[in-house]
Amino acid sequence: MKLSVITLVAFVFTALPLQGQFKSDVIPTSGGDLEMFFIGHGSLMFKFNDQVIHIDPVMMAADYSNLPDADMILVSHQHSDHLDLKAIKHLLKDETSVVMTRTCLEQLEGFTGIVMENGDKENIKDIGIWAIPAYNIKHVRSNGIPYHPKGEGNGYILTFGTTHVLIGGDTENIPEYEDINQAIDVAFLPMNTPFTMTPEMVADAALTLRPQILYPYHYGGTDTQELVKLLKDEQEIKVRIRDLW
Ligand code: ZN
Ligand code: ZN
Repeated sequence: MKLSVITLVAFVFTALPLQGQFKSDVIPTSGGDLEMFFIGHGSLMFKFNDQVIHIDPVMMAADYSNLPDADMILVSHQHSDHLDLKAIKHLLKDETSVVMTRTCLEQLEGFTGIVMENGDKENIKDIGIWAIPAYNIKHVRSNGIPYHPKGEGNGYILTFGTTHVLIGGDTENIPEYEDINQAIDVAFLPMNTPFTMTPEMVADAALTLRPQILYPYHYGGTDTQELVKLLKDEQEIKVRIRDLW
C-alpha cells in the first residue's frame, strides 16, 4: 500500500514538471486551443492540438533537456540569445521542422533547416507561417550599423485556425507593419533598448498592429508598467505582462 502511494506520487510529479515550471495562457482558436508558454526573454513554446512549437529556444532561458520535443522550431535570427544549437538538439525528433534565416543556417555548418526570407509564406503541419521583416531603424551601433540590419532577421506571423499570432523578433516599429493585411490577434513585441524598442515605440507599433492581446517580451530591465500606462486608454488592446525578461 505504502509503496503504491509512493509510486503514484512519483508518477504525478514526473508527469507535471512543465505545468509548474512555466506559466502559460490559453486562447481558443477555430482550429483548437492554443496554449502559449512563457519560457523567458525571446523564448516561447506553443502547444496546438498535439503539436509543440518552440520559438527561439536557448539554454540561457531554460534547460531544454526537460522540455517537450518539437514538431516545429522557429528561429528569428542568429544572435546567441535566439539561436542556440544545444537547445535545438535537445528538441529534435525525426519529424521536426526547423525554420530559420539564411544567416542562422550559415552559422550552423552541416545543419539542415528550412530557410525563410522576409516575405516568405509557408504552411507546415497545418500552421501558417509568414516571415516578416525585423530590423532597427534608429538604434545603431557606434559604427553606424544597426543592431539588426534589414533583411537579416525574421519576425513570424503564425496562423492557428483563423487566429494570427505575431512574434516580432528583434525589431523596431517598422513601416512594414502598416502593410500587414491580416488582423493580428496576439502580438509579442520586444522592448529593450538599445537593441529593440522603447515602450513608446512598442505602443506605437501596437497602435498600428492593433492586437487584441499584446505581450511585451525580451524586455530586460525595462519597466513594463510604462507600456501599460501608454496604452491604458486603448480598450481593444489588452497588455499582458508575463515573465519574459
Ligand atoms: Zn538580436
Ligand atoms: Zn535578442
